[in-house]
Amino acid sequence: MTEETWGQVREGLLKRVGRNNYLTWIEPLRFADLTDGVARFTVPTSFHGDWVARNFADHIRRELLGSGAAVTRVEFAVARQTAAPAVARPAPAAAAAPARANDEDMASSPLDARFTFDTFVVGKPNQLAHAAARRVAEGGPVSFNPLFLYGGVGLGKTHLMHAIAHEITARNPAARVLYLSAEQFMYRFVQALRDKQIMSFKELFRSVDVLMVDDVQFIAGKDSTQEEFFHTFNALVDQNRQIVISADRAPGEIKGLEDRIASRLQCGLIVDLHPTDYELRLGILQTKVEFYRGQYPGLRIAPGVLEFLANRITTNVRVLEGALTRLFAFASLVGREITLELAQDCLADILRASDRKVTIEEIQRKVAEHYNIRLSDMIGPKRLRAVARPRQVAMYLAKQLTPRSLPEIGRRFGGRDHTTIMHGVKKIEELMATDSQLADDLAMLRRQLEG
Ligand code: ADP
Ligand code: MG
Repeated sequence: MTEETWGQVREGLLKRVGRNNYLTWIEPLRFADLTDGVARFTVPTSFHGDWVARNFADHIRRELLGSGAAVTRVEFAVARQTAAPAVARPAPAAAAAPARANDEDMASSPLDARFTFDTFVVGKPNQLAHAAARRVAEGGPVSFNPLFLYGGVGLGKTHLMHAIAHEITARNPAARVLYLSAEQFMYRFVQALRDKQIMSFKELFRSVDVLMVDDVQFIAGKDSTQEEFFHTFNALVDQNRQIVISADRAPGEIKGLEDRIASRLQCGLIVDLHPTDYELRLGILQTKVEFYRGQYPGLRIAPGVLEFLANRITTNVRVLEGALTRLFAFASLVGREITLELAQDCLADILRASDRKVTIEEIQRKVAEHYNIRLSDMIGPKRLRAVARPRQVAMYLAKQLTPRSLPEIGRRFGGRDHTTIMHGVKKIEELMATDSQLADDLAMLRRQLEG
């Protein structure tokens, strides 16, 4: 079977499964090979693979048979996340076909087909990041370079970057969009050095229209990789090519990142994704439920279940999604309505894990919000009273409300020494005795955090 046959088969499948299913589940499949009657496809995620295997495998097999391909079985495997190096070197056998045609020479990392703007739920915490990503995806003249997205784990950085890539290539299939993690950037750089292919490495990276590097904090402290990244970055900016970068914190807060790189990064638009709030979590859950409804037509959810989850699972969106997936799978298996009770049973471990245990991050966030300073200043080095005092408040609350030791707390405050934490805690204790405003603040913060 050829790529072309698969193209025709897909048209047949579109009729069989309907447009929605087709776009969500079939379109992202990449034909890998057909041997001994087994047709293999790559899928963006194992969830995608399981789903297709369960719901559409038979349709696919029949359509393939109909087109004359001798297929007895279809199999799905996840596209490997570590992309093959840019230089010619046979990829390991398990490696999958690239996600899109123009990735082939670009060696872009596979994009998750579900990470689009359509599936991204916008709320207050990510409003600005979303708007900036949209702006970049529209193309046209580059208005800020780079776009720098930062925020904690599971808040949607990667999702937004993939969405940008999808959108740009949808609007302009000829656009050369290169998406990869900073880790892959380093990996390829090292390979290129080893294989004496550094010129083609440079050419590749300087020939793209849009470069997206995810989790750039990874290359901090890796000197020659940083150096190369810096040159690539400058070359692209000079040519007015769009760059999008993500990290887990603001450029100035990334330890081991060269100053000149940090300051170049600061020239663009820096946007942080704030931790989710209740409304956003509920919105995400509702969207996902809509999405699942098509798959499980008989499925019913009792009122209050989503609200319960949005309230209780606050850690990150990935965990929230995992909870919902499990609920649906379980409910459909046992053929029951999803009630609060079922949710509590089925998700006991997740709920226990996120059981109102106050985390240091939460404390930092809440305190930063309260005093109207940047979250990054909590871990940053600034000594200004306006920043240092709230930081000490957060240290005090971390000591009071979490079981963490002083050295552990120190680590979470940008690697500070435990004596610094001890000093901070003492300071607040002293002040509280005389400063009733501070005492009130603390009582309120405490209530909110424990609430
Ligand atoms: P990050 O890269 O910031 O760690 P991801 O982009 O990988 O986070 O997001 C983690 C998961 O949560 C993904 O499955 C993503 O689709 C989902 N997610 C995060 N934010 C949103 C959102 N606003 N709307 C829909 N899904 C989201
Ligand atoms: Mg990510």
